Formats: sequence, structure tokens, C-alpha cells
Amino acid sequence: MYGGLCRESNRRMQNESTKLPPLAKIWGATTEQWHDAAWQMRHACCSAEDLERVLSLTPRERSALQQAGCRLAVRVTPHFLSLMDPLDESDPLRRQVIPQPEELERHPEELTDPCGEQRDEKAPGLVHRYPDRVLLLCTDRCASYCRYCTRARMVSGSGDDQWRLDWEAALRYLREHTEVRDVLLSGGDPLLLTDEKLNAMLTELRRIPHIELLRIGTRVPIMLPQRVTPALCSLLHRHAPLFISIHCNHPRELGADAERALGMLADSGIPLGNQSVLLRGVNDSAEVQRALVHRLLQCRVRPYYLYQCDPVIGTRHFRTHPREGIDIISALRGFTSGYAVPQFVIDAPGGGGKVPLNPDYVVAEEPGRLLLRNFRGGIYEYPVTPQA
Ligand code: SF4
Repeated sequence: MYGGLCRESNRRMQNESTKLPPLAKIWGATTEQWHDAAWQMRHACCSAEDLERVLSLTPRERSALQQAGCRLAVRVTPHFLSLMDPLDESDPLRRQVIPQPEELERHPEELTDPCGEQRDEKAPGLVHRYPDRVLLLCTDRCASYCRYCTRARMVSGSGDDQWRLDWEAALRYLREHTEVRDVLLSGGDPLLLTDEKLNAMLTELRRIPHIELLRIGTRVPIMLPQRVTPALCSLLHRHAPLFISIHCNHPRELGADAERALGMLADSGIPLGNQSVLLRGVNDSAEVQRALVHRLLQCRVRPYYLYQCDPVIGTRHFRTHPREGIDIISALRGFTSGYAVPQFVIDAPGGGGKVPLNPDYVVAEEPGRLLLRNFRGGIYEYPVTPQA
């Protein structure tokens, strides 16, 4: 599975990623400890006191940290902290995981379950909305918690809802519903499950003959790349076809450790896509998005979706106007590789599902011709063949 070239590039990445970031000194971590996922989780920062050892918190952040935990717990891995500028409160990585006072506000347009997942729950933890695919909420834990999380209601155990997965009921439903051919494991982060637990779940799902495709949604390669081990890769490889959608919002999230983890997954034959969320002050410009999609492709990840930030409670400060997302796609389409351009979508509140939003390239539709606008704004005519 591993060619000579891949081995060489893996060695290079591993050498780079075995370097200890200066931040590791704060914990007195050895190289071995730093690259151990269990060590990272044990030393994740979960309070103002923990974070203050690493970052200089502003009074606004300190006050938000004291209260935000009742909406969504705070947790940030040392690895993700090491990618931030400790002195810059507007650092785009920091904004994603350190609460702001605005997060404690409620606005009329905001909902606890903006995607209406509870409405489509067929068994505890199993959501069936689209005709041939389901969502399985495998856990409520993540390596780090994102302040804009759509599932803040149940993720981390601090919100209004208690996560519950009735595995036997979910399996029964899946066996009976032969129209389901695609299962997305999400949560929380399924890659936080132990290898044994994950393997047991995937094995049971693989035994259902009509399930063709397994997918995993995860932010682990970004927040906790140390969790991606040869054992995990070989486990995932055994359950092919299995696709992974990572969640990465900014090019600086893709350092040497994340690149190494993604390279290992790609070398194991796992197709990788990225889902990012358009966030004010994080990635709301064409420049940052261009750098992100180029860096993703370098890491062998295909940009897949760019999401409009869902109207979940306490996230107004992150939300952009949908027009900004369309403009970003206009700035990418035609100006860079087609593989680099994600689909911009809004998850329609109330359970409407994903709605794609695209720049309008059809200027007019007339008998015998279409008038089209190209990526530079030029107008071109396409002759429409008369249909029988
Ligand atoms: S990793 Fe995903 S599920 Fe977990 S907090 Fe972030 S957005 Fe929510």
C-alpha cells in the first residue's frame, strides 16, 4: 500500500512533526508524550485557569469563560493551542475555541437544533432525513469544542439535551430500511471512540448487505492528529469503501502534524474531503479561503462543502451574510483548480437539508440559445439544440 515515494514523504513529515513546539515546555512534555493522543487529551485546557498558562486572556474572554461552559463545555488540545498566536485575541484559530461574551446572547433567529435533526430521529442517535442515507450520532465528545457547533445542544454534555444512542434500535432500523445505502458516523467525533469500539460498530454496519458506503465526519486530524495511528488507519482500511470528511476552517490548522495524519489516512486508501464553516473573523475572505483550499489539496484533501454558519444559539457574531459565501465561490471558480472549489451550502433551518448556493452563470435563457457569464464576467452564447 505504501509506495517508495509515499514512504519518503511520510518520513519527511514525521521528522518535521516530531519537533516539539515551544509550548510543550509549559507541560514539560517529552516528544513521545506530545505525540501521544491520550497525553494530549489528559492535558487539554478546559478552564480559564488552564488556558491562562498558555494564552494571555482578555477580560472579555475571561468573563465569557466563566459562564460559557453551561452552553457548551470548553476544551482545547495542547496541539491546537500550539498553532495559535498566544498574544493575539483575534487569532482565527483562537476565535473558534475560546468563548466570547456574545456567545451568551440569544437572538430571535437562533435555535437549539437549527438543522431540525431531532424531528428526523428514528431511534435515539439515528437521524434519517435524506432518502438513502442516515446520520449516526456515535458520541457526544470531541477533542476540542468549537464555539459555533451546530450540535451544541447535545455535544460535550453541557447543553439542554442529553446525547443517547440506542445502538440495538439503530441497527434494527437500518436492517429493516433497505433503502439506506450510506451511513454517516458523526457526533461528537467518532474518532474519539477506541479502536475496539469503532471497529465493532463498523463491523456491525458492514454486515448489513444494503449498506454500501460508510462515512465518518471528524475534526480529529485537525484537533488531535496524534490519534491517527497505523492501527487506526488499518482498521478504517478494512471497512472500505469508507470516506472521511474532515472539518478544517483555516490554512494554519494544517501544520506538519495534521499533514502527517492526513497523509497516513490517504495512504490507507481513504478518500478525504473537507467541510468548513464560513465564520466571521476566521475565514470570511476569498484570500483565506483560497489559501485553505490550496493547502487542503496539498494535504490530499478535496474541499467538499463550505457551510453557511447555522443559526444556532449564541453564534450571531460568527455569521456572515449568505451573499459573502457566494462571492467567495465566484472568486474561486475559474481562478483555481476545479478540485479546489467546494460547494457552498445552507442547511435549511427546520430540517430542509442542504441547499446549494451558486453564483448565477446563466444570464438569459432564450429560444435557441443560452446566454452565459464566464468567471471573468464575459458573456458567451451557447446554441441550444432543438429537442425532439
Ligand atoms: S468537532 Fe464538530 S461536533 Fe465537535 S464541537 Fe466541533 S463542530 Fe461540534
